[in-house]
Amino acid sequence: MPAPDPSGGVAREDRIVMPGFVDNHRHSWQTAFRGVGSDWTFPEWAVAMHGTVKPHYQPEDVYVGTLLGRLEALHSGVTTMLDWYHVAQTHEHEDAAIAALRDAPARSIFCLGAGWATPRSVDDDIRRVRADLSGDGLVTLAWGLRGPEDTSMDTVARELKLAAELDLRTSLHIVAEGTQRPVGDLHEHGLLRDTTTFVHGNGISDEELRMLADAGSSLSISPDVELKMGFGFPLTGRALAAGLRPTLSVDDVPSVGGDLFSTMRTAFAAQRGLDGGLRSRDLVEFTTIDAARSCGLESRTGSITPGKDADLILLRTDDLTVFPVTDPIATIVSAGHPGLVDTVLVAGRVVKRDGVLVDVDLAGLRTRLLNSRNRIAAAAGISLNTPWLPRP
Ligand SMILES: [Zn+2]
Repeated sequence: MPAPDPSGGVAREDRIVMPGFVDNHRHSWQTAFRGVGSDWTFPEWAVAMHGTVKPHYQPEDVYVGTLLGRLEALHSGVTTMLDWYHVAQTHEHEDAAIAALRDAPARSIFCLGAGWATPRSVDDDIRRVRADLSGDGLVTLAWGLRGPEDTSMDTVARELKLAAELDLRTSLHIVAEGTQRPVGDLHEHGLLRDTTTFVHGNGISDEELRMLADAGSSLSISPDVELKMGFGFPLTGRALAAGLRPTLSVDDVPSVGGDLFSTMRTAFAAQRGLDGGLRSRDLVEFTTIDAARSCGLESRTGSITPGKDADLILLRTDDLTVFPVTDPIATIVSAGHPGLVDTVLVAGRVVKRDGVLVDVDLAGLRTRLLNSRNRIAAAAGISLNTPWLPRP
């Protein structure tokens, strides 16, 4: 797919042009601890991130972690990202995350996690942030609900009603361990919505997947986290069989890399190992148009279509890791990596050119993130020499 080079106006033969990636579930506040949790199980991640370091986060830590996390995703070709915020402590922390997303030249959705260890009124909180993020600019708002596994069904119902009133999409994590049927329970209470994205859900039944498909709900699969942390196999193939187009997400960068090339490859390999299913084109659709639909942004992004907002990425085809490119889609899925991302456009504006983010003070931000990491670690009493996770 030779593409015109929008930065130079000269036709080039050595780039693939594709829609920018859409990641609909990532907790970027954890960026200062990138890579420390490669070996973690889910309980270990929860102890380390929520129990050990989160209480010591100050607004500056949320700001610089979110900003460098968002910039890394953009650098890797993620033009749209939903930032699933659950470091809630004060309004200043929330505002710092929103400011960081606004300072990144990218399309972002601030997904405010409801009631995650905050004593404040969830309703007041979402109304306050809604008043700030009321437009349809590059940064918009969604609401991260606790769901039936973390709160009562009455609370879920009340929050979904308020979400509709505030015209907000919702996202919620589900696990479905043992005999739990969280999706079935929501269905029986009439609480499945076409504006909700369910995250993970590895333990749900095929019947529940059909309920999600019938309701028009979305499913976000984080294959690396789910496999490594012990959630079980990703639902990719079972979702397709139930009539539900899955989407893919990174989730958290302490334990996995932040680019969707790797995420696609893991999902692909896992499903091939299970039943030989999926084609390369499926993976690209999961991370572009299907994910855009899950964010309610399919009229603006997710495909190369006249009238959309021109969120595009150009991938090098002369790089030795992919040269010679014969089949672009197969190449992207089988061998793609962030080093190929030469140019990124968001809403028609070039934000990365010749492999470099435009007008970003990365040196200054790196210093701030290192200071943030070191200060939090000192406050939490943890060593940055591995393994630093406190063991029970
Ligand atoms: Zn998550």
